[in-house]
Amino acid sequence: MRAVDIIAKKRDGLTLTHDEIEFFVQGFTRGDITDYQAAAWAMAVYLRGMTSEETTALTLAMAHSGATLDLSSVAPRVLDKHSSGGVGDKTTIVVAPLIAALGLPVGKMSGRGLGFSGGTLDKLEAIPGFHSDLSQKEFLAQLQAHGIVVSGQTHDLAPADGKLYALRDVTATVSCLPLIASSIMSKKIAAGAHIIVLDVKVGRGAFMKTERDAAALAELMVQIGHGVGRQVGAVISDMNQPLGNAVGNALEVVEAIETLKGRGPRDFVEHCIEVGIQLLLVARAATDEQHARAKLETALASGRALEKFSEWIQAQGGDPRVVDDYTIMPRAQVIRDVLAPRDGFIAGIDAEEVGLTVVGLGGGRAKKGAPIDYSVGVVLRHKIGARVRRGDAVLTLYANDQSSFDAAEKRLLAAIEFSDDPPALPPLIHKVIR
Ligand code: URA
Repeated sequence: MRAVDIIAKKRDGLTLTHDEIEFFVQGFTRGDITDYQAAAWAMAVYLRGMTSEETTALTLAMAHSGATLDLSSVAPRVLDKHSSGGVGDKTTIVVAPLIAALGLPVGKMSGRGLGFSGGTLDKLEAIPGFHSDLSQKEFLAQLQAHGIVVSGQTHDLAPADGKLYALRDVTATVSCLPLIASSIMSKKIAAGAHIIVLDVKVGRGAFMKTERDAAALAELMVQIGHGVGRQVGAVISDMNQPLGNAVGNALEVVEAIETLKGRGPRDFVEHCIEVGIQLLLVARAATDEQHARAKLETALASGRALEKFSEWIQAQGGDPRVVDDYTIMPRAQVIRDVLAPRDGFIAGIDAEEVGLTVVGLGGGRAKKGAPIDYSVGVVLRHKIGARVRRGDAVLTLYANDQSSFDAAEKRLLAAIEFSDDPPALPPLIHKVIR
């Protein structure tokens, strides 16, 4: 078998066999198949798609490209949630310690920034010392000792996804259903959680722009999870505007900690509670939605979730002083408000454009493996539906030099729509699939 023939077959719109997919993934993981061949293949998949059988074969091949963890020796039920990617989505940083604070172990593999969407690992690494390249031994030991662990793909764990993910980020091959489904589910299978809730985003700042595509992605991932014996649920949640107010790595960590202190933005708090409810219901750790909500709200209000966050950060080498002192994270040099150009209602905030602007400021990568600037980003002062007057601050922009500030300001103002009449408010959750 030759990689070039497999690329050509997919380029021509044909269906790959199980053996061809496995050959390609194994060769790529070993380094026998090069990055440029994998990038060409990913583009062929992007343009031609895959059947659900091909996607399942790709998922399993990537999941087995490294070790697959058996967590049963550590805990009979380990929980995990995963987002399909959005803008301002710092949900894991709140939900993981919130669930762990209820005594339910959380073990998960997260990703880095991908296209316009931020990545949990990049956000967490804004905390000095935090590291996510855990071996399988370290993953298991931390789960046992602390009941919470968040790792990235490593040489040990889902290495094929780690390599392909980094290529997709910089080759315009992200928004592709089979590549997203296999990327997410390979990590879930490798990391071994028994109970998984998938947070599938839909809208302007999501990879799936329509509810139909989001439902297709959710259903395929649920089916793959069930096929390997996992209990899986999914929510389809709105990403037509950024989630919460902060977009940008360190800024999102601040917002997540504020949320754990009970001071989070209303939409983000409610989103975290909704994802938490689904986790507790799929895990049968609550009798109904009301019971689940009460448990989550108590863990948040009592400070137990915040304590768990601090324990988790410290366990992964991070400086726990971040809880009380946000200034230990990188801080931008140019911080200024961007003002409303007119009176009116905020009718739309193009989340994808906000995400791309933050990437452009240095908060994401243009090249594989490039360093990122944790300090830059945006904090929205108003969301869709708010009434503003000309000259009111609509957002605060964090940049590291005046020219990138000016370029970002222009882009962001063009990304915000104003109207004379109050707009319809987007829902937070579109659908729950269980
Ligand atoms: N999250 C992932 O882990 N992979 C994707 O492709 C998209 C979101």
